[in-house]
Amino acid sequence: MGEFELIRQYFQPVAQRTLHPDVELGIGDDCAIQRIEPGQVLVFSMDTLVDGIHFPSGYAPDRLARRALAVAASDLAAMGAEPVCFTLGLTLPEANPDWLDPFAAALAQAAEDFGLSLAGGDTTRGPLTLTLQVHGSVPDGQALLRSGARPGDLVAVSGTLGDAAAALGYLNESAPGEQQQALLQKYHQPEPRLDLGWALRGRASAAIDISDGLMADLGHILQASGCGAVIDAARIPLSPALNALAGERAISHALRGGDDYELCFTLPARHWDAVKQKSPVPVQVIGEIVAEPGLTLTNADQDASPLRSGYEHFGVAND
Ligand code: ADP
Ligand code: MG
Repeated sequence: MGEFELIRQYFQPVAQRTLHPDVELGIGDDCAIQRIEPGQVLVFSMDTLVDGIHFPSGYAPDRLARRALAVAASDLAAMGAEPVCFTLGLTLPEANPDWLDPFAAALAQAAEDFGLSLAGGDTTRGPLTLTLQVHGSVPDGQALLRSGARPGDLVAVSGTLGDAAAALGYLNESAPGEQQQALLQKYHQPEPRLDLGWALRGRASAAIDISDGLMADLGHILQASGCGAVIDAARIPLSPALNALAGERAISHALRGGDDYELCFTLPARHWDAVKQKSPVPVQVIGEIVAEPGLTLTNADQDASPLRSGYEHFGVAND
């Protein structure tokens, strides 16, 4: 199967299923065309997933498609953006229908679920690698940045933390139990918190999605905002499954483990009630922003520190 036949057979149908009115021209020309409504700005981001590094070798193609698009859409959520479209850079060792069929079907379903139209891409032969560029839009001046946290702001997170990191231990489990399945679900099918991102517009002072662990990603907000935070470890939301399976290590997974794709955000206390009410996912205050730089953790045992953590591809974790 040639490159063009592959695109026609597998990716044209994905595009047709996910038409977004802002995409004026999709697959088939030299470029796609996206309309930007007056008063909106284009928000875009790119994620690359490499076989054996960002997902296990031999990872199921349907899971891969959904997880890749969810991870990409999560960046839009963290900016408070509306999803519009995405492009897919796909490097494949071979054009195998047994792999492409479930991949394209799951990609179409995820694209529909997240409201992202497939607008183009690039297809090459080589070691399995996916690069997704997502485009979204947000009213001019309302994007949620990492740099707006101020002393006195509350620090909050969505959902529960640590589940995806704990799930890594069960990826090869042939018959996972109910609680293991609950953790695995969070790893395989992260939910981009798009609705929460929209609820945070005009209310949150800073936001980030938790891809590398709470400490690392909150650290990025603190660094960009030039302030510090005091976090109460006892208030970090942990799932029943994580508590049951990880015991004392649960908090460590929540602090350091990546792949949760929940949002961490800061906001003035007066906005808390509105956010809590509008968020479709549970949100929880875990601490407060302070003027003095650095991250202080209260109510944590020895195991929870040191705080420097998070995944970095080249070298050691950042401070
Ligand atoms: P060009 O040579 O102009 O870069 P290509 O031959 O690479 O164009 O691709 C032809 C068309 O198919 C383009 O519109 C491109 O965006 C689209 N396309 C290529 N690969 C993919 C893919 N994996 N998913 C979606 N669209 C794709
Ligand atoms: Mg090309």
